Parts: sequence; structure tokens; C-alpha cells
Amino acid sequence: MTKKNTLGPLSFATTAVHAGEFVDPVTRASSPNLVMSATFAPEKLTGFSARDQDESTEGFVYARVGSPTVRQLEEKVAALEGGETALCFASGVGAGHALICGRLSAGDHLLMPESNYVGIAELARDTLPRFGIEASYVDTSDVEAVTAAIRPNTRMLWIESPSNPSMMLSDIAALSALARAKGVRDVVVDSTYCTPLATRPLELGADFVMHSLTKYIGGHGDAMGGCVIGRKADMAALNLEAMVHFGGIMSPFNAWLILRGAATLPLRMAAHEKAALFLAQKLEAHPAVKNVLYPGLPSHPQHDLAKRQMKNFSGMMTFQTHEAGPAIAQRMIDTLEITHYAVSLGHHRSLICWIGTDDIEKSTFRHGPEAAARYRALAGDGVFRLSVGIEDGEDLWADLVRCL
Ligand SMILES: *Cc1c(COP(=O)(O)O)cnc(C)c1O
Repeated sequence: MTKKNTLGPLSFATTAVHAGEFVDPVTRASSPNLVMSATFAPEKLTGFSARDQDESTEGFVYARVGSPTVRQLEEKVAALEGGETALCFASGVGAGHALICGRLSAGDHLLMPESNYVGIAELARDTLPRFGIEASYVDTSDVEAVTAAIRPNTRMLWIESPSNPSMMLSDIAALSALARAKGVRDVVVDSTYCTPLATRPLELGADFVMHSLTKYIGGHGDAMGGCVIGRKADMAALNLEAMVHFGGIMSPFNAWLILRGAATLPLRMAAHEKAALFLAQKLEAHPAVKNVLYPGLPSHPQHDLAKRQMKNFSGMMTFQTHEAGPAIAQRMIDTLEITHYAVSLGHHRSLICWIGTDDIEKSTFRHGPEAAARYRALAGDGVFRLSVGIEDGEDLWADLVRCL
């Protein structure tokens, strides 16, 4: 369904509300329909295989190949990222798996950040070797280190900025130019922490953007999802491989919830940033706090890059305390009334959790000595990862300060 647009390019706020949405031609419903149908009755005889479907195929055939409500969300996220087209998956990790296993083959090399989102980090370390895909790990905040780590068979460079949980940024424009010069085919940016309001990686030279829609874009903590945005030619192959063959598609119900969440992304991101900046300053000034890492603070070691690359500093930060983290974490579980002590992030309500360095090294990163030292320089014995919601900053601080 294409909508009339005679006004030319629309602003981000208008795009967030209207992209992918239209008045239903049958019922004249103004809000998106929730279409749960698994199959679709064709008007003309068509082939049964997904290979028989292309852009000239009218309508939908089977919901694993594509379905109307999910397609509406795909149009919205593609428009928000300024990309040609998008695919949605059952989770962020499902989107990451689709890209990695849909694009790479045995003998290819994947260059990954040495610390990034645990689910993707463990997929690379535990699963890929069984399929003959080589992965190696580098500090992607260091362009020279990435230059040295690219191999002749490097087919994909994975970037996550800011990174979960290290809070380090990577220079997407510089790394994309480097990858291009060195013949690396795919630059992927996990832009979950940023959202397209803050950073548009495709405009900086990346080939693919992925998001956990479970986080900021859905924004309400009630629907899991993931998406990949990229060029049409690349995405058609990914549709066949990852949706039709792997099958990790998004439920239409989740697409419907996330569509509704995405419409208010600009308003929410402004509120996240406002409350986060307030809390980051309060935390930094508090005697119980050793340090705070928030891209919006001048004390962040990459504040200049953050100002260049992020139009919104988002709601994510980490902080270390002088007192041992687990004791404070237990006080948070017992005391907090507004912020929930829980994993996940990017929801309208604030969330906090403790990430112990020994734990994450053992479960996930398994760094060698140099990378372990770099991670420890950022995270000490562990960090509190705080996802600041859209509540009032003063209320959040009154709740949190009692635990410090
Ligand atoms: C949460 C997250 C993911 C994974 O998303 P799920 O929806 O939980 O599968 C990937 N990358 C980042 C940066 C995340 O924060």
C-alpha cells in the first residue's frame, strides 16, 4: 500500500507517525489494522514457493514470507533509518542471526567488537565456529586496531555504538570508509542504543542497520522484536534466506504494538535524554559514585565523537560505585519504588541492573589479557547499567539516591 505524498521529504517526527500507515481502503479505519492471518487467498494463480514471489507479485501469500501488519512496521523503520527496505524478526538477536548466518558462509571472516551485546557476542563465540565462520574480536573504538584486524577473507564488520555495556562509541563514518577501502563487503551497525533519531548509520556509509525493537523503538517493554534495514537487492536475498528458511519472523501482534510505540519515538527520546542528563550529572557529583559513563557528559572520553555522531544522547549510562556493587544491587531490589531492577532497556519506565565484570567475562566475553584490561578500565569490577525512562528526573533521583 503506498500513500500519496506530494509534499516531498517529511520531518522525522511526521515520518514516525505516518510512515507505513494509511487509511484502510475498505473500512476507512484511521489506525493500523492487526492482521493475524497466516495465509492469504490469491486472486490469480501463483507459485507456492517464496522464490516465485517478487515485487510484481500482488498481495501476500503466507505470513512467513510477509504479512500486512509486519510490512507496515517494516516500512516505518525503513523510512526512519532513511533506508530502502527493512525486514522484521522475532527479536533483536533473531535479526542479528539473520544477518550473520544469512550473509556469511564457511570460510568467511566476521570482525566483531571485543565487547558488545551479550546475545550477539555469544552467538559469535559459541555457534559460528561450528559452521566454519571465523570470528575475531577488536576494539572498534580504535580505527587503527580495526585496520590491523581486517583479513583478506573479512566479509562483515560488526559495529555497536554506543556499545552495551561498555558505553564506548565507534566512529561509523571512519570505519565504513575503511571497510570500503579494504574490500569488506558488509558493514553492520547495531544501532539499538541510538535509534534513528540520534544516528542514521546508512547515511554514514554502513550497509545494514539492525535494531532490537524490544528496546527504544517499541519503547514500552511489552513486545519483543528486531529489524534489519538495507538496500533492496541485499534484502531480497535475506528475505528468502532468513525469513523463509530460518523462519524467525515477527508476530503481527508484536508488529502492531511496535508500530504504535514507534510513532512516539521522537517525544520519548527527548524525555529519555532530558532525564538521563539530569541523573548522570547527579550521579557524577555523588560521593558514593566512582564514575559515570554517559555520552552526553563532557567527562565521557568520546564526548566529541558523541556530539558529532549522536543527535540525541539517549537514556543509557553506566556508573561504578565505591561500595561493592552486589550489596547496592540488593538494596535496589529491596528499596526502589520507581525504577525496576531488571534487565532490558529503552522502555518508558526506568530499569537498572548490575553487570559484574567477572561474571560477564566468564559467561560471554572470555577476553584475552589485553582486551580484559581494556574492559576493566571502563567497567572496573562491574557497572550499574541504567536505562533512564521517560519519568521525571527529580523523582528518579529521589528513588535512586536512597540506595547509594
Ligand atoms: C537487547 C539488545 C539486542 C538483542 O535484542 P533482543 O530483542 O533482546 O533479542 C541486541 N543488541 C543490543 C545493543 C541490545 O541492547
